[in-house]
Amino acid sequence: MTASEEATPLDLAWLRAFRRKLRAWYDANARVLPWRGTRDPYAIWLSEIMLQQTQVETVKAYFQRFLAELPTVQALAGVDEQKVLRLWEGLGYYRRARQLHKAAKQIVEEHDGQFPRDPLAVERLPGIGRYTAGAILSIAFDERRPILEANTVRLFSRLIGYAGDTMSSAGRKTLWSAAEALLPKRDAGRFNQSLMELGSLVCRPKAPLCETCPVLGLCAAQRQGLQAEIPRPKARAKIEDVRDAAVIVRRGPRVLLIQWPEGGRWAGLWDFPRFAIHGVSVSEIRRELIEGVQQLTGTTISAGEHCKTLRHGVTRFRITLECFEGEYLTGASRNGKMPKAIAARKWVRPEELPGYPLSSTGRKIAGLVITGGKTEQSKSP
Ligand code: SF4
Repeated sequence: MTASEEATPLDLAWLRAFRRKLRAWYDANARVLPWRGTRDPYAIWLSEIMLQQTQVETVKAYFQRFLAELPTVQALAGVDEQKVLRLWEGLGYYRRARQLHKAAKQIVEEHDGQFPRDPLAVERLPGIGRYTAGAILSIAFDERRPILEANTVRLFSRLIGYAGDTMSSAGRKTLWSAAEALLPKRDAGRFNQSLMELGSLVCRPKAPLCETCPVLGLCAAQRQGLQAEIPRPKARAKIEDVRDAAVIVRRGPRVLLIQWPEGGRWAGLWDFPRFAIHGVSVSEIRRELIEGVQQLTGTTISAGEHCKTLRHGVTRFRITLECFEGEYLTGASRNGKMPKAIAARKWVRPEELPGYPLSSTGRKIAGLVITGGKTEQSKSP
C-alpha cells in the first residue's frame, strides 16, 4: 500500500469508539505532571509556552521554579525582563520568555489582570497562536477549542491516514478539521490533554507502540501498514560546522560583559564577547581576537591564553567555541559610543555574574571566572 494524501473520513461510530477508548486509556495512564490538575490559566499558559520545543522532563523544574518566584500574572508583569530571562536561562528559545513577559503586561493593562476568555483577544497576546490559545481556553475554562501541536499532528495524520505535507496550507486545514471533529462537546480540556499524551507516549515519532495502542483498530495508517511513512518525514536541515571565540576580557578585578541586542537569538541576554573566527595559526587567531573584541565592544585588548573549548549546537549549527583570556588596554569608556552589534556593555565583578541572565555557554565561562578554573586543552593564540 502506498501513502495517499486523501484522509479517511471519520464517521459517528468511529468517533464514539475513539473517544471512549482514549478516555479509558488516559484515566489509567496519564502522567502526573506539575501543570496537570490546575485550572489556573496563568500556570497552564506558562507550561504551554515552556513546552514549545522543549522536553517535558526539562520543563518540570523550570516550571516549578518560575511559578514559585512569579506565582501570578501580576507578579510576572511587575518584574524586570532581566529577572524573567534569568529564570528562563538554559531553556533556550528566549523569545518565548520575552513574549510571555510582554503578554503579562498586556493582560494587566488591557484585561485588568484577568486572562481573557475571548479567543481573538487571547490570540492578540504576544507569543500566543491558535494552538496555545486552544490549549489554555480548553484546559482552564473547558471551552471547546481544538489543538494542533507536534504530538497531535503526528497522531491525527496517522489516525486519518493523511500522507500529505503537514506544513502545507492544505495539510493544516485537513488536520485542524480532524482536531475539530474529534473533540467532544464536554470536557474538551481533558480530552485535548489525552490526545497529546497518546501522541507523546504511544504514537511516538519513531517506532510507534501500535501493539499497545488503545485505538489500534481505529487507525488508518496502522491498518495500511504505513505508520512509519506517515507523517511524511521533513527534509533534514544540513548541519553546518561553525567556529567561534569568546574572550574573558579582564580589567583589574572585573570582566567585560556584553548584552545582545533586539532581533537576535539571545536578545536581552548577557555574554562574554564572542564572534566567529577562521584563523589557524597562533598569529592569525591573536589578530582575530583583538579585532573581534574591538569591533564588537569598542575595547582594545591584548590577547591572552586559550582556556577552554566548549561544544554546543544551535538549530542547524554545530559550534566549537574556543575561550580565551584577554587583558583590557583601552576604550569602552562609560561615555564611549556603543557599537551597533550590542545593546550594552558592563564591567562586572565575578561575584555579580550569578545575577545576570547569560547564554548557556556564557554561564559556563562565568563558572570558570568565578572558580578561577583554567586551561583545558590549553594553547596560546
Ligand atoms: S495504532 Fe500506531 S500509528 Fe495508529 S495511533 Fe496507535 S500508535 Fe499511532
